[in-house]
Amino acid sequence: MTTSSAYNLSQLEWKSFFKFHNLSENLVPYWTDGLYKNRSLWKDHISQGQIDLIQNHYQLNLPEISKILESNDGTFKFQVRFHDGLEVESVLIPFHKKYTICLSTQVGCAMNCSFCFTGTQGLKRNLEAGEIIGQYLLLKNWLLTKNPNSLLPSIVFMGQGEPLHNFNHVKKAIEILNDPKLIGVGKRQMTLSTVGYLPGMQSLREIPQINYALSLHSPFDDERQLLIPVNQRFPIDEVLKKFDELSFLKRQFLTIEYLLIKNFNMTEKHVEALHAKFNNKKIIINLIPFNPFPGTRWERPNLDEIENFKNLLVERKLRVMVRRTKGDDILAACGQLKINPMVRNL
Ligand code: SF4
Repeated sequence: MTTSSAYNLSQLEWKSFFKFHNLSENLVPYWTDGLYKNRSLWKDHISQGQIDLIQNHYQLNLPEISKILESNDGTFKFQVRFHDGLEVESVLIPFHKKYTICLSTQVGCAMNCSFCFTGTQGLKRNLEAGEIIGQYLLLKNWLLTKNPNSLLPSIVFMGQGEPLHNFNHVKKAIEILNDPKLIGVGKRQMTLSTVGYLPGMQSLREIPQINYALSLHSPFDDERQLLIPVNQRFPIDEVLKKFDELSFLKRQFLTIEYLLIKNFNMTEKHVEALHAKFNNKKIIINLIPFNPFPGTRWERPNLDEIENFKNLLVERKLRVMVRRTKGDDILAACGQLKINPMVRNL
């Protein structure tokens, strides 16, 4: 039985597939409409024989939801299971009247960041484009059953995994998610977050011009290395240089993610160094109070400490926002995603 997902294919690839199998290319829009919107749309255009032929080559099922947890603030965390039994977590986050879906790009992660629960489990495997898209479709469809009038959710690639460590599949997933004839999530409605994995950054220009987020967390290499070990290979200034080389379009942003950790990265010295690096640059600094998880050595600052650090940055005329933590009661907040092997079933 084939395990390759039908959601791995772009429109162009469907056209080639149809041509190769002597099917009319005119059928492709009907086929992809049925695949992405509602399979009843195949009824008048795609025969059962044609569906069977495609099923001999591609798996038409989406992954399964194996567990759903609801947070007090309306955030939902989903455990999503793939054909080989491996699972990731994807999160549906309410924001004003819209939702954002946080997608995983790998099962586990090789980056081993010390503030991140996912990093403690190591990398199991990369996700294919269709498995990344599958998470989005599952959560979007689930949301539509609860609220049929919901707008198309935005996307952040901030779940398990370093997206640029799985560049080709993530790039393809972005192209398919962005294709208006398939799913149609706008480029500016997608944000890819990276710790600054330079081999993947070399090819960022190949990705449709979405927004980016860099997990910085300290302006000093020696300190950042304690949080993000790959900083030893890819130091901050080299990573920032790569972003400088991209020409950002109107409404396209680089967000600097900055985890606030008590007694670690919140002094005047940090404010001065951030000012020196980002003064007059088109960036927003997103301050994220650390979300504790079992066994971590890092601590969360109190509200006064958060406010004070923010004010010091604002005084230096940097654009700053403080992210309200969502879903931390169900370990769905940033850096808290990790499958609990004791919890497997719905
Ligand atoms: S923060 Fe991101 S890159 Fe670092 S270990 Fe966690 S999932 Fe991987």
